[in-house]
Amino acid sequence: MAWSVVIAGGGFGGYYAARTLERILPAHAARVTLVNDVNFMLYTPLLPGAAAGTLEPRHVVVPLREELDRTDLRLGRVTGADPDRNVLGVRTIEGHDEELRYDQLIVALGSVSRTFPVPGLAEHAIGFKTLPEAIALRNQIIGHLERAETLDDPAAREGYLTYVFVGAGYAGVEALAELQDFMGEIIELYPRCRTQGMRFVLVEARDRIMGEIDADLAAFAARELRGRGIEIRTSTTLEEVAAEQVRLSTGETIPCRCVVWTAGVKPHPTVANLGLPLDETGRIRTSTAMRVVGHRNVWAIGDAAAVPDPAHPGRPSPPTAQHALRQGRRVAQNVAAELGAGGRVRPFTYKTLGAFVDMGRCQAVARTGPFKWRGFPAWLMARTYHLALMPGVKRRYRLLVDWNVDLLFPRDTSELGQLGHPERLDEGFQAMTAGGTSTDGLTPETADGDAAATRARDRTA
Ligand SMILES: Cc1cc2nc3c(=O)[nH]c(=O)nc-3n(C[C@H](O)[C@H](O)[C@H](O)COP(=O)(O)OP(=O)(O)OC[C@H]3O[C@@H](n4cnc5c(N)ncnc54)[C@H](O)[C@@H]3O)c2cc1C
Repeated sequence: MAWSVVIAGGGFGGYYAARTLERILPAHAARVTLVNDVNFMLYTPLLPGAAAGTLEPRHVVVPLREELDRTDLRLGRVTGADPDRNVLGVRTIEGHDEELRYDQLIVALGSVSRTFPVPGLAEHAIGFKTLPEAIALRNQIIGHLERAETLDDPAAREGYLTYVFVGAGYAGVEALAELQDFMGEIIELYPRCRTQGMRFVLVEARDRIMGEIDADLAAFAARELRGRGIEIRTSTTLEEVAAEQVRLSTGETIPCRCVVWTAGVKPHPTVANLGLPLDETGRIRTSTAMRVVGHRNVWAIGDAAAVPDPAHPGRPSPPTAQHALRQGRRVAQNVAAELGAGGRVRPFTYKTLGAFVDMGRCQAVARTGPFKWRGFPAWLMARTYHLALMPGVKRRYRLLVDWNVDLLFPRDTSELGQLGHPERLDEGFQAMTAGGTSTDGLTPETADGDAAATRARDRTA
């Protein structure tokens, strides 16, 4: 009978684990099942490009069925596990609960945005971790420009033209830089807004931005951002968010209707339901070979796991795609070794080779081994790196086309928040008879200015 290998989570770690297992396991030796809640892998480093309209959203995801040949993709949500019985609980996309039996289980469920108990944060801020969030943010920015343009009072416009980003890790900085670049381009089409100008504020609790990369590269990035007019507030925290303003720990109050939360990640909450040992941050405890402590046939990788970092003994690997994908490859080899398909179980040994932070406008900072790069060469290297890493030749061509089109033509300002959510057939008639038609196609702001409700709706769009 063939072995059963189950992979929970089809992101960077899970996808690379499945792909490697397909290559190294003999054809009928094992049945590999990948459980994921969506049928694609999100290539997160390109998410800022999708939000800023440089890249078509479909071009920053990898359809799992296209890229995996022999893996059985099971669409559904992992709900729990019973490691003593070797079963994983799954609620299928169709809605029924089932148990998947495994001989070997790889957990790669990733992470979610880490939040703090800041009053108003959950109601009024938006994260930047998923494709729906990135596209909702883009729609919100365009919607705010449209609304600001209708207002006569500059003071009323201010909140619509101010953007506060909280958390200055590389993901936050890339998102902010790309979106500010996008807005700088499209604001030309809004005469009132252009005259008034926009305001971007980056808030960071630590004493410098991008704590993950070298201080001199971070300083270069900070200079670049300040040169673009972005205000950076370090050693500052967000204290309160309301529908139309935020309050910072310095006492400063900023009129603002768009708060983007990019202040780190925590393991996916489902991880706590798997009956596996967790460290103090909630990540699954593993050996250096990624085997879960106390469980011979369970492995954990990526953001959800505390795999010891070979570069910094005593610390877990950082939550990056670079680590997750390499852990995926290595864990697949370890599982194959465990099933007797050759090789032996080995520790994860990868040490970060470099880092890229793409800030749009042909500007980036990068470190590759001992070398540091900034400006255009770093930007070119960042793009080349992602082009090489993106799975599938077809998608690489699409990225190339998108990037080149972006160099030649201005970006699109259509707000497509209603895409995928058509009205009921009789809704148009009902709205007309109730006198509530919205003909501009924009996600409507409620009459009493309830921006929070609109944001919540935008977010699900
Ligand atoms: C905006 C942004 C930019 C980034 N840029 C970079 C970068 O430039 N370089 C870099 O190295 N890293 C980058 N990262 C970090 C990188 O994305 C993560 O470290 C990496 O995705 C972790 O891989 P993973 O496999 O652990 O999790 P993920 O890739 O998040 O995959 C987890 C998968 O599990 C699925 N899932 C979750 N819960 C369930 C459930 N209950 N049931 C079924 N499926 C479930 C998810 O849908 C997802 O498909 C960035 C992250 C963000 C948000």
